Amino acid sequence: MVVKTQRDDVTWYECEGCGMMFDDESDAEQHEENCDHEDPSYIQ
Ligand SMILES: [Zn+2]
Repeated sequence: MVVKTQRDDVTWYECEGCGMMFDDESDAEQHEENCDHEDPSYIQ
């Protein structure tokens, strides 16, 4: 999930899973789709 945060009057978009920050919402959403932080499908 992407979390919106305000810092120094700049809006950041943070990947809730790994904490990576983006200044562009679409970048954050794209990362979030590919982020493997909470996807259990690879667990064997
Ligand atoms: Zn992530």
